[in-house]
Amino acid sequence: MRNGGAGAGEAMRRTGRLRRVLKWGGLVLSLLIAAAWAVSIRWEVGQRVWDRPRFYLRAGLIAGRLVYAYDAAPRPTPRRSFWFFERNPWPAQWFLEVDKWGNLWSISLPLWIPFLLVATPAAILWWRDRRFPPGHCQHCGYDLTGNTSGTCPECGSLIRIREQQSDIAAMSEGGHLPPIIEAGD
Ligand SMILES: [Zn+2]
Repeated sequence: MRNGGAGAGEAMRRTGRLRRVLKWGGLVLSLLIAAAWAVSIRWEVGQRVWDRPRFYLRAGLIAGRLVYAYDAAPRPTPRRSFWFFERNPWPAQWFLEVDKWGNLWSISLPLWIPFLLVATPAAILWWRDRRFPPGHCQHCGYDLTGNTSGTCPECGSLIRIREQQSDIAAMSEGGHLPPIIEAGD
């Protein structure tokens, strides 16, 4: 993965940026999907098509699912489609369904599926990048003040001493604090 030399630093910076984009993008998208789910429990939102004598949903959010319908036999008759926003009378729906009425196909995708697909990798990235304050175990967050054993007593991770005495001196106003310790990877 490393190119070696100056290229490695550049590649790592790019990876860091991509990682931030994925973390934040995944978080925002997860929240949007969750919000869409919450809205769809109370309201039906989408587009309907009037195709005489039928009247069907083309696409929309209903009762926790994204519904899309497709008419496999388009006719030359003009269709009118319009957006709607109405109270949803149905209880929350959790299953993936593919239905067919005549030439009309519909697929109903429960929103927990895209939510899990987006939120799981984002949560893993956030979990892996979590940071505890200096002086705490970077694996479990245990306060390591005064620890000289080189091992976190809570989770057993190895700790490496970091040269941050200058930061400590600045923060402690001349007090005598132990060096900041950080768990090694
Ligand atoms: Zn620990």
